[in-house]
Amino acid sequence: MAGRELDVDVVVVGAGLAGARTARLLHDAGLRVAVLEARERVGGRTLARPIGAGTFDLGGQWIGPAQARVTRLVRELGIRTFATYTEGTKVLLDRDRRRTYRGEIPSLSIPQLLRMQLALLGLERERKRVPAADPTAARDAKRLDAMTLETLRARYRLDHATRGAMDAAVRTIFGAEAADLSALYFLAYLNAGGGLMALAGTRGGAQEERLVGGVQQLSRRLLDGIEVHLDAPVEQVQVREGRVVLTTPHLRARARRAVFALPPTQLRGIAFDPVLPAGRRQLLDRAFMGSAVKMLALYDRPFWREAGLSGELVCGDGPLSVVFDNSSHDDRQPALVGFVVGRHARVLSTRDGDAARRAVLDALVRAFGPAAGRPSELILQDWSAEPYVGGCPVALFGPGALLPSSGHLRTPLGPLHFAGTETAREHIGYLEGALESAERVFSEVQSAGL
Ligand SMILES: Cc1cc2nc3c(=O)[nH]c(=O)nc-3n(C[C@H](O)[C@H](O)[C@H](O)COP(=O)(O)OP(=O)(O)OC[C@H]3O[C@@H](n4cnc5c(N)ncnc54)[C@H](O)[C@@H]3O)c2cc1C
Repeated sequence: MAGRELDVDVVVVGAGLAGARTARLLHDAGLRVAVLEARERVGGRTLARPIGAGTFDLGGQWIGPAQARVTRLVRELGIRTFATYTEGTKVLLDRDRRRTYRGEIPSLSIPQLLRMQLALLGLERERKRVPAADPTAARDAKRLDAMTLETLRARYRLDHATRGAMDAAVRTIFGAEAADLSALYFLAYLNAGGGLMALAGTRGGAQEERLVGGVQQLSRRLLDGIEVHLDAPVEQVQVREGRVVLTTPHLRARARRAVFALPPTQLRGIAFDPVLPAGRRQLLDRAFMGSAVKMLALYDRPFWREAGLSGELVCGDGPLSVVFDNSSHDDRQPALVGFVVGRHARVLSTRDGDAARRAVLDALVRAFGPAAGRPSELILQDWSAEPYVGGCPVALFGPGALLPSSGHLRTPLGPLHFAGTETAREHIGYLEGALESAERVFSEVQSAGL
């Protein structure tokens, strides 16, 4: 440990959206705040870069009408938004079959559609019974926590095409397989975001709009004028007589309160003294990050639009689970965005660069024709390889994780507070959830009399 010493009211650990918003609120309330960020940049799971003739998000990018906090923040900061392009027909790939459809649900046969509707209705009924803020309080929490989503949905006897469409949605939302997820956690997560169709949808759903200039600017702008230390990974936290001492390789910070705005999996890398309570450690130990590789393909022309296609693809067999039109706001840079998620991401990560590119381009060609195989640029952003995040879009829980671990990720421990999208009570896993968690932690710190 070297030299620099800080003494402030509150240290915020992590300069993603949750940390940035927390720091802004505390700073504006007159507190002395310092932010310690492990990486060389702010933004965490948001990352925007100028590429081709546009600026593109390689992390989180969409906002939806149900996400009031992020919509308000974007407006307050004077950032312009634009709608996701949805004109034209969509494509469903199922094994070797390619079908096109309009509307929200892929074109399936009448019996398939009925099964799909039944499954969706069943999940809607179940999720409304699971409180998003505390899933363990659900009446049948024990039964649901003991099973995976795979077990829960088995009763609907979905066939290959219908399962595939649902798998694509689940993988994209969670970065995981139905067999990875606790049914209880899945239902609470759906409830926090308004249901499966709201989370999977474009118009009226969570993928409705993008920000001109990208999402990372939110964290940058919120932190304007606030003391931020980059390359400052917190390694050790000591609580002594109600005060907190945080140690990084080059800096030591003392504070009356500390706010941890990190994925729960990253908290495991910090040595707490005294150690965190056993129930809390169990919960952290059982969290795992979703697996997601985000694909961005730039083209000289929007050939799919010219062929009457919206650019939207759903594929249950991988490697790409979904694709959307992702052209720049002024249409100067035509682009498609796609997600290789869940087990397909884990497979893709083991392939060398050329093989990974070929696998993704093959899928695009099957969906959109030969022009899709000739992008001017192709980026595969593997979030599992990102330091201090380790996966995306969100931390998850398998069966048997929530019930045995007393308490919740968000419960404060003395002068230690916990923010981050995983601790949210609304829109868990989303930018909106990160902001909700920041507001909660701000009131916690205020109630503590600081
Ligand atoms: C590919 C992808 C697509 C997504 N799409 C969307 C979308 O379209 N819409 C949407 O709403 N959401 C989306 N999300 C999710 C959204 O980006 C996240 O919910 C949100 O950014 C999380 O913010 P956060 O502040 O809670 O956590 P993070 O952004 O993870 O911030 C945590 C910060 O803590 C830092 N850190 C970690 N460990 C330490 C340490 N020991 N010391 C100091 N600092 C540390 C990290 O470097 C990071 O900067 C997506 C995410 C990904 C990756």
